[in-house]
Amino acid sequence: MSAHIKAEKTEDSSRMGRLFIISSPSGGGKTTLCKAVFKHFPDILYSVSYTTRLPRPGEKNGIDYHFISKNEFFRMIESNRWAEWAEVHGNFYGTSVDLINNGLCVGKDILLDIDVQGTVKIIEKYPESITIFIMPPSIETLRMRLESRGEDKKDVIDQRMINAKKEMEQSYLYQHVILNEHLEIATQSLLTLIESCRLGLRV
Ligand code: 5GP
Repeated sequence: MSAHIKAEKTEDSSRMGRLFIISSPSGGGKTTLCKAVFKHFPDILYSVSYTTRLPRPGEKNGIDYHFISKNEFFRMIESNRWAEWAEVHGNFYGTSVDLINNGLCVGKDILLDIDVQGTVKIIEKYPESITIFIMPPSIETLRMRLESRGEDKKDVIDQRMINAKKEMEQSYLYQHVILNEHLEIATQSLLTLIESCRLGLRV
């Protein structure tokens, strides 16, 4: 089946939506791949995460993340507003439980771009989730990508590399692993996988 064939409109309020979880280490190409997903399936809802980290140049509040203070974040923990939350690279990140539950109830398919810790927590709550790990070709390629991006200082990159190695070792927790060595091939694989799941051909 070709990923170029558009799936039938699957949004249907008589059935629950599906959760697609995509994880990869920083620099794994996840953002580019997620953009391709939204271009191909514009009806999929993106779960915009909340974070206490500062915006990077070009990032927009409410689009890339909801940027909030640590106080707000902890208040939301106390009032059970997270479907999951985690500390990643020294910052806090959380997924809104309201966004997920409201979306699923009206039959929306939702894409989450979260880390491995978050994925484990979401699977506990939503066991039907479809989990996809984007695997970089090697740890060296990842470092090169992060360095050439020029967004982070050396110590931040070093920390991200340690986390990346740990995350890559945990990729066995995911139902699907897509190797992102050649972006076009990885994009095609991801779109085909999502299309198959939406058509009920695989989980
Ligand atoms: P970045 O700061 O580079 O945008 O993201 C760092 C890591 O945090 C990425 O692996 C990303 O997938 C993860 N992340 C982003 N949002 C969430 C979230 O809501 N929950 C969890 N657990 N991880 C998240």
